[in-house]
Amino acid sequence: MTNLANSILKELHPPLLKNLLRKEINELPDYDPGADPDTVAHISGITDVIKLSNNENPYGTSPLAYAAMAQLLDGNLGLYPDPFGIKLCHALAQQLGVDHTRIILGNGSENILELLCQTFVSEGDLVLTQQPCFGLHEIFPKMMGGRLTKIRLTPSFENDTTTWHEALDHHPAMVMISNPCNPTGTFFTIDQLIEMINYSSPQTIWVLDEAYYEYAINDPSYPNGLEILQSCHRPWIVLRTFSKAYGLAGLRIGYGVACNPDFIAALHRVRTPYNVNTVAQTAAYAALSDTNHVHNTVQATIAERHRITTVLHDAGFQIAPSVTNFIFIDTQHCALQVSQELQSRGVIIKPWREPGYDTFIRMSIGLPSHNDRCIDALLDVTLRMK
Ligand SMILES: *Cc1c(COP(=O)(O)O)cnc(C)c1O
Repeated sequence: MTNLANSILKELHPPLLKNLLRKEINELPDYDPGADPDTVAHISGITDVIKLSNNENPYGTSPLAYAAMAQLLDGNLGLYPDPFGIKLCHALAQQLGVDHTRIILGNGSENILELLCQTFVSEGDLVLTQQPCFGLHEIFPKMMGGRLTKIRLTPSFENDTTTWHEALDHHPAMVMISNPCNPTGTFFTIDQLIEMINYSSPQTIWVLDEAYYEYAINDPSYPNGLEILQSCHRPWIVLRTFSKAYGLAGLRIGYGVACNPDFIAALHRVRTPYNVNTVAQTAAYAALSDTNHVHNTVQATIAERHRITTVLHDAGFQIAPSVTNFIFIDTQHCALQVSQELQSRGVIIKPWREPGYDTFIRMSIGLPSHNDRCIDALLDVTLRMK
């Protein structure tokens, strides 16, 4: 984390303020946004720092999106954005084959995760997620006073359906999972997902976070959540984003597709009225039409993932079988220490901190030259730590 971010977060903890905070906020874990490249460059003295910590698209944003934004910036940004993002919702509706009233935009899909918890999670409600899990799947339910239970993956990164059944027997208010899973890159199979949903109480809300859908769908056994949930007779929402394969992380825009318009209407009630800015709406609309850009960058990333997975396997590392644009690597050493050593060599990855996974790092698949530098540094660092 940057020094600045550190000092901002610390401001939350003076004892006086502590008494004023809701107890949920007092106990809330901080989200780890990863190290800042400028700070790492400053400390390490290395000018060309590479950032493989946030699963961004290394090939960047579609040129069509830049063209659309350029046009916009010649015009008038003095007006508020479309509060419902109708134009983009219609384009998404057409592409996905659902009515536009079942779609909501968010200031990043994380915004919708937050809205879902604000809308549906009451104090004491049971929420299920995975372990290891995406930080916000823990933070947002807890922020609302939810009781979070994390279901562990097996040591070979499989989903343990027996443990899931036992947890589902307690009738959770919500199941919030990423499929494929961040940080492992693995996924619930079609059969597992259908079986679990059918086993769950009819009142349980299913939140399927498909931030890496565009990468995963290239694997024939990956379940398209939207297709599976259509016929499940449970309340549900599928979340996708423009931050990863579409290369628009800096603009903050994602979307959700839900079981019916009422579900979406409830979220609209809770969100701030102009939560998705005009530039993001315009760029996402253009990026959506550039199927070539998404296709080419996804294919290049998958080819790279195969290449570096082989290199790391040959070097003896255990890696979860990923269908995404990142890999989860067991370094067999303290991940935080590995991360610090890598940073001193100008390489930023994400060290994992959850119990049972604190020897793992998550590495985004970047440009080939960046991946090579990361792997060389990793081999060097772990050799020296032996
Ligand atoms: C990256 C990521 C997100 C965040 O997406 P935004 O649209 O940028 O907010 C959400 N969920 C998971 C699992 C992610 O990995």
